Amino acid sequence: MYSSIANKDVAAHLHSYTNLAQSGQVEPLVIVQGDGIHVIDEKGRRFIEGMSGLWCASLGFSHPRLIAAATKAMQTLPYYHTFYHRTNSAVAQLAERLLEVAPVPMGKVFFASSGSEANDSAAKMVWYYHNAIGKPLKKKIIARRNAYHGVTAVAASMGGLASNHNDFDLPIAPRFLHTDCPHHYRYGLAGESEEAFATRLAQVLEEQILAEGPDTVAAFIAEPVMGAGGVIVPPAGYFEKVQAVLRKYDILMIADEVICGFGRTGNMFGSTTFNIQPDILTCAKGLSSAYMPISAVMVSAKVYEAIAANSGRHGTFGHGYTYSGHPVAAAVALEVLKVYEDDNILARCRDLAPRFSGALRSLVERRFVGEARTVGLVGAIELVQDKVSRASFAPDRKAGVKLAQYALEEGLIVRPLGDTIALCPPLIIDAGQIDEMFSRLNRALDRLEPELS
Ligand code: PLP
Repeated sequence: MYSSIANKDVAAHLHSYTNLAQSGQVEPLVIVQGDGIHVIDEKGRRFIEGMSGLWCASLGFSHPRLIAAATKAMQTLPYYHTFYHRTNSAVAQLAERLLEVAPVPMGKVFFASSGSEANDSAAKMVWYYHNAIGKPLKKKIIARRNAYHGVTAVAASMGGLASNHNDFDLPIAPRFLHTDCPHHYRYGLAGESEEAFATRLAQVLEEQILAEGPDTVAAFIAEPVMGAGGVIVPPAGYFEKVQAVLRKYDILMIADEVICGFGRTGNMFGSTTFNIQPDILTCAKGLSSAYMPISAVMVSAKVYEAIAANSGRHGTFGHGYTYSGHPVAAAVALEVLKVYEDDNILARCRDLAPRFSGALRSLVERRFVGEARTVGLVGAIELVQDKVSRASFAPDRKAGVKLAQYALEEGLIVRPLGDTIALCPPLIIDAGQIDEMFSRLNRALDRLEPELS
């Protein structure tokens, strides 16, 4: 017997990212409350949210300052738009603050409501920019296999995951291309060092650009750490080598910081951690700790000036959303950035990272854990059938899904990405809670191992 909420949900709700064919056969998990790093379901079960929701609630689920900021903003100005030179105090301050914390000097900030919209906007700005500077052939955007950039038609085209393409008739040809995924454990050759692997991938990228014609390639987009593609931490030297190729052919670098932005990797941006100098940077999630939907696109002065001049020729920059610069979302984001500073969230993340990575890496001693990948307070383990050959389990064994289910039963929410299990806890987690998170994950592995043997 499901609860009345669960019944209504099954009857009426078309879910995101769910096997819809199983609707009604799988009991919906009805979350009713948040409390620090925990969420509580309608049955009163309390879970450590080891994924911060969808890599986003970095300040946990009940931060009083954010609730106060939202309430005040809602009472003062619940909505206004940012078309035709209109603005509001929160969005103007937020834009200024983002330019101050940007990993490289940036020119201006555009706002949207989701990571997908931010990436969609970035792609459109890339095209608009190249038309503006008289390079109308430069239209192709190169992304990586296994990348995740969202689900709008353009963002999903840039992504490199089959589930976002299959039967959606994506990617939109011929504008989007994909290059190699920088996962050393999976795609490195026998005996190939990380550095040599990175060199090879940069060479492949260069060959691809030459084969396409460099004057047709507009931009390269990358997450500093690939999230949904399996928490892939790039190999040593990767971004330096890739960016050298991009610079050679005058190709813009877009950093998708939707997950890595705002402390996740131990610096304000993953671009700093991995030495990326983006021309365009997109961010969302941690920007508001997910308390309100808001995303941003930062563009360099060079890109901005060309776009601005072109909009002058057209009479307007014909892009923007009803909710771009929403005053409540912007006020919450502004408060989030203050909390990150006041509570030394970046330093906390750096201090706790060794404990987190130590516990995560120790899981490699377990029978079916082939690799542990981590930086800052994000990480993953990959389950494999055979640790020597690195052979994966057959998909129908559902090793990852089962582990996530056992973890849930042990009071820990993790995310299975195939047989990779991701962890991305709220940045407010403390040392004891990290230990507790890994005890629960170990108990889930204790339950899974006999089943997989
Ligand atoms: N980019 C990255 C790296 C993401 O992880 C995500 C979402 O998980 C997105 C973009 C899309 O963001 P949204 O779901 O807010 O559209």
